[in-house]
Amino acid sequence: MSRPFERISDVVRIGLERHRRGFFSQAEDIYLEVLDSSPSHPEALYFLGVLALQADRPDLAVDRLCRARMIDDRAGGAFQEHLGLAWQALGRPAEAEACFRDALARQPESARSFAGLCAAVGGQGRWHEVDRLLAAHGCPVPVRFRVPGSGRAVVALTIDDGPTADTTPRLLEALARFRATATFCLVGHRAERHPELVRAMVAAGHEVAAHGFSHRSFPDLDAAAIAEELETTEALLRTIRSTPCLYPVRLPFGQGWADPRVHAAVRAWSARAFFAHWTFDLKDWAISARHMDREAAAEAIDLAVGRLLASPDLDRAVVLLHDRPIDNPSPHAGWVSVTMLERLLAALTGQGYAIRSLSAAAHADEVH
Ligand SMILES: [Zn+2]
Repeated sequence: MSRPFERISDVVRIGLERHRRGFFSQAEDIYLEVLDSSPSHPEALYFLGVLALQADRPDLAVDRLCRARMIDDRAGGAFQEHLGLAWQALGRPAEAEACFRDALARQPESARSFAGLCAAVGGQGRWHEVDRLLAAHGCPVPVRFRVPGSGRAVVALTIDDGPTADTTPRLLEALARFRATATFCLVGHRAERHPELVRAMVAAGHEVAAHGFSHRSFPDLDAAAIAEELETTEALLRTIRSTPCLYPVRLPFGQGWADPRVHAAVRAWSARAFFAHWTFDLKDWAISARHMDREAAAEAIDLAVGRLLASPDLDRAVVLLHDRPIDNPSPHAGWVSVTMLERLLAALTGQGYAIRSLSAAAHADEVH
């Protein structure tokens, strides 16, 4: 974690030490103690804001970071970057963009601020500007954060990491009940084991696309291995449906969309591929990892869905959910996914939104 202030008081330094070692609640106690004796302590407020962001409480993070900035406006690039991430997580890309631009002016080499700026600009649908920013960084593959076009109340739904025998059928049942379609971003080694589930997805009108074969992070692989991850998975899928002309590549862990090496490898694999990123990550994977009892998990699900519905940028957003997430040992990960999907579908249809796959949402304007 970089330091946004020139001098850090000794007490805050002790909190920071705990914070860096992952003792988040101890760190929070120390920062709160500092605030008790000195209510407008900008460093304590700043680090409390960072903790709130790490705990997936962007509303609280924005509040604390803005208060810190009002007290001490000498805040540096790292500070603006965190505030940008918090606005972005709240679904407020215009505010996020201003923060990331300020952060980049102070720290032009920050990859995280650059990625944040691209996501914030893309989150407002300004594709050409994102493409120009990326091209200037040697990244030629288009990255999409939202559904193109305008009009009709539509949300694109993407479901990663399937198929799995225990969760996929329940997801398909919920989608059918709400007359919704989705894009399933499939992991090749799971699809290989369950081609019948992929066939069921396609038969029900859903879109399927490759999310890597082994789910390894693309920036860790060489160009040949990246192409193999995509081709081996797509070779399975094309036995079930024809390869889409515009190919949505969902990167494992969402990593590599601002990495020139990953761009070159994916462009070599397909001239028509684009990176299908997302506007909102509902973090079902974190909820099932963090909450061991279902009551607490259900509360976190309601909070996440409520935050999504409150966003002013919901129309034409791309939402990320998971089938049973890769590398998540929680026994109720599947239950979290299904419950999250059901509550999301009920909330969105209740507000008049159509829920569609990426390609169907892009053509929603033509459907009446
Ligand atoms: Zn994944």
